[in-house]
Amino acid sequence: MFAFRETTALDPAPADGRRVEVAFTDAALDLQEGPELAATLAGLAADLGLTGLARLHQVHGADVATVDDGAAPVPEADAAVTTAPGLALVVRVADCVPVVLADPGAGVVGVAHAGRRGVELDVVTRTVERMRALGATEVRAWIGPHVCGRCYEVPAAMRDEVAARVPATYAETSWGTPALDLGAGVAAQLDAAGVPAAVVAGCTLEDERFHSYRRDGAAAGRLGGLVWLS
Ligand SMILES: [Zn+2]
Repeated sequence: MFAFRETTALDPAPADGRRVEVAFTDAALDLQEGPELAATLAGLAADLGLTGLARLHQVHGADVATVDDGAAPVPEADAAVTTAPGLALVVRVADCVPVVLADPGAGVVGVAHAGRRGVELDVVTRTVERMRALGATEVRAWIGPHVCGRCYEVPAAMRDEVAARVPATYAETSWGTPALDLGAGVAAQLDAAGVPAAVVAGCTLEDERFHSYRRDGAAAGRLGGLVWLS
């Protein structure tokens, strides 16, 4: 169910036992929008002992929603932050870059969906700024599985346009054609924002543990990046 899961404890441990949980799902857990999604999320919340799961209507923008419960309406945004314990933030992708962020000490967590437009709009830095406005000072990030720069072929003009804004995205496919490395772009943006980032291994196109739009087309499921305060 999870391709990656990590618990971030504080050292020394706070008296309230606060921890941050970070997870990326695999293809065994499809989080694509549809009639089964509510049941899937309810089961996940029960399994993980969560009070709720807050997802987003992702629109390839840079808006950041501040949420304190998982109730409807679902915000139209590509990033979210919260300080609510037990509420998991969920970002869903199938080749775009899922990013989860946390400041365990301050008790602030965030998620972002960074596709090509999200990288151009620097959605991850907008998310870090919102977390800092809520009191975060030591933000860390995890860059989840996404289509890698050796696989994400784009027209040359598109590569030039994106790389003009975010030079780290400039890439070439393994077969020698223009490409974008969105993960490298996100990593550069986080570095510029002063946020250390861990990269979770796996290319969604090459690694069948993950959902991939480029491999599976419109029927592709969605993998999730989750973060919550426990
Ligand atoms: Zn790849």
